[in-house]
Amino acid sequence: CGIVGYIGYRQAQDVLIHGLSKLEYRGYDSAGIAVYDNGVIRLQKSVGRLATLEERVKGEAVLAGMQGIGHTRWATHGRPSDANAHPHADEQGRFVVVHNGIIENYLELREKLTEKGHIFQSQTDTEVVVHLVEEMYNGDLFQTVVQVLKQIHGAFALAIMAKDEPGKLIAVRKQSPLVIGLGEGENFIASDIPAILEYTRSTYIMDDGEIAVLTADGVECFTFEGNPITKEVFNVTWDA
Ligand code: GLU
Repeated sequence: CGIVGYIGYRQAQDVLIHGLSKLEYRGYDSAGIAVYDNGVIRLQKSVGRLATLEERVKGEAVLAGMQGIGHTRWATHGRPSDANAHPHADEQGRFVVVHNGIIENYLELREKLTEKGHIFQSQTDTEVVVHLVEEMYNGDLFQTVVQVLKQIHGAFALAIMAKDEPGKLIAVRKQSPLVIGLGEGENFIASDIPAILEYTRSTYIMDDGEIAVLTADGVECFTFEGNPITKEVFNVTWDA
């Protein structure tokens, strides 16, 4: 299981698939990507090997666009299936989320959100996160994520993207590995360094309780309370 994210000037699909292929060693049962382009977030996901997903998106279902997130899944809640594969989106496709780990209080959250009219499309624990973002969205994705983090318990690395806030990715870490790759006019999210090593050696190693907000031109880091923090750049000296 692994997560990746890209924002910059390259075709996101290629960077995401490449990154996921470097995370294959972590093991997975499904894979998926979401790419933003021109006011729309498009998704492709598939149970099985990364090659299955790759074939789809290299063919007719190519996802054009220069920002996106991707996932390889190791199912914990909900069997391996196309519907349970990440990314997960809300009904209107305004938000997408990929997640590694377990949201421990998802049943309780799912019940509350269902009462409020949210319609779930998967059996995963993860899907509550995207509906919570939708429910709590106040026009500012970062501030919304800070509020959502007060509601979810468990272990998670998350990457989140919103249709109404192009040019931005948000990554969150609590007890699941997460690194940020720093480029020139592009930035990266990954569960592990090999996924981004082809593009950059300059990284932030995220710690538990930290949020990163990425644009193509920069990365800002915050605590879960939303307070800014300064991260040291870690330069990778080894080869994958
Ligand atoms: N708990 C989530 C799921 O079952 C994420 C699993 C993972 O880390 O890949 O979909």
